[in-house]
Amino acid sequence: MSNNRFINPYNFVPFDKEPDRTTSNDTERKNTGFFDVTIKLKTDLIIPDGKKLDFDWETPIPAKDNKKHGHYRFFRLNGKPAIPGSSLRGMVRSVFEAASNSCLPFLLDDSFTMRSPAKKKGREEQGSWKSIMGKYSPCTDIDELCPACRLFGTTEAAKESKNGNGSLPVKGLKGRVRFTDALPTQPIKEDDIQACTLQILAEPRPTAFEFYLNKPNVENATYWNCKHYIIDGKQKERQDSKLVPRGRKFYWHSRPKPAKVKKGNMNATMECLIGGSTDFQFQVYFDGITDTELKQLEWALTFGENDADGRYCHKLGHARPLGYGSVKLTIDRITLRKLRWEGNRLISSTETVENPPKDFKYCWKNQEIIKALLKMADYDFSKNADRIDYPHLKDASSDDPCDDSCIFQWFVKNRKTRPINTLPDPLAIDLSLPKLEKEQKQNHKSNSKRW
Ligand SMILES: [Zn+2]
Repeated sequence: MSNNRFINPYNFVPFDKEPDRTTSNDTERKNTGFFDVTIKLKTDLIIPDGKKLDFDWETPIPAKDNKKHGHYRFFRLNGKPAIPGSSLRGMVRSVFEAASNSCLPFLLDDSFTMRSPAKKKGREEQGSWKSIMGKYSPCTDIDELCPACRLFGTTEAAKESKNGNGSLPVKGLKGRVRFTDALPTQPIKEDDIQACTLQILAEPRPTAFEFYLNKPNVENATYWNCKHYIIDGKQKERQDSKLVPRGRKFYWHSRPKPAKVKKGNMNATMECLIGGSTDFQFQVYFDGITDTELKQLEWALTFGENDADGRYCHKLGHARPLGYGSVKLTIDRITLRKLRWEGNRLISSTETVENPPKDFKYCWKNQEIIKALLKMADYDFSKNADRIDYPHLKDASSDDPCDDSCIFQWFVKNRKTRPINTLPDPLAIDLSLPKLEKEQKQNHKSNSKRW
């Protein structure tokens, strides 16, 4: 791949036609117990504690910028770096959701605007993210939940009161899995934590429809958005009433790149834990889950490969598009609670599997989804780290990290390019996109809300 191309930091694991929603199966055997899990840090990890500090602990910067530039410590419990259980839960849930063809538990912006392709003045059209997501919108009926909402719980779905006596509907369903906070297994040395000034992070932009939405189902469309497309120079209305989103967003494994980044109000300096410095351990408790759910959960924790040196890894924490947060999870021990009757007494005991198998094979329904998910989880992909970058203009040098306006200009230029560039399928051999020439006239204002 030449210098004039880049690989976008994220791609999409495809959806099926609709989520697999079912009523609960109470006849299957249930399991209660917990996993002991180890986390190995493959790259540097950033878990900011959320409290913006108004002082600079490194080089002094001008007072004006200093006020705006945020500094964040690594999350700590009792003074020690830790990883909150909620972050681990979200990370594992997103893999479980993709593999089990579940709903999206929350949506991005409710609506967005885009420009009509044929109107020179750029008349704006509205698009609603919820209508685009269609059946993948969050579950609403407790009696018909997707596998992820059933296991991890939902705050959205409700159950209508059936007896009609005016009692309130039941809202939400508690999950049957609980993730503890993860603690380091070794003492953290002073050098293990470093302050990193990060490149500006581009936030999720659902309005970058050329990345987030599928192409219209017609040959040779040279431009499209969610309402129109252009073919042979003519604008046509999209007939596909149900627009198909590309799928679920995942980040490629990469590596943080050393770059001289200026401190400003658009970026932040954060404490980062150096890859390989320590492992972490935590527990996943499960209560009354079926044999099938147990196998699926083992798979979502390990990608089916229970080996600390394995290739399939999760992405955790902050700055994932910049190569931070590649982690490998392994299950060290499985503890199951066993109940048996002795006469008329119910006896509870535990059974522990100390050395669980090296793999947790589970056959998911849709193998095309699993193929894409495993490709995006493959840590070997980080060998492409030098090419992974946000959309880039041609003259932006690699030492000078692309900022928000540079990304914006790529999208502006791309929407004038025929055919318009779209994200390659994650299973494609060539995943690269071209850096585009800089516009000659620069009279557009940078309005990041539009892309
Ligand atoms: Zn759901």
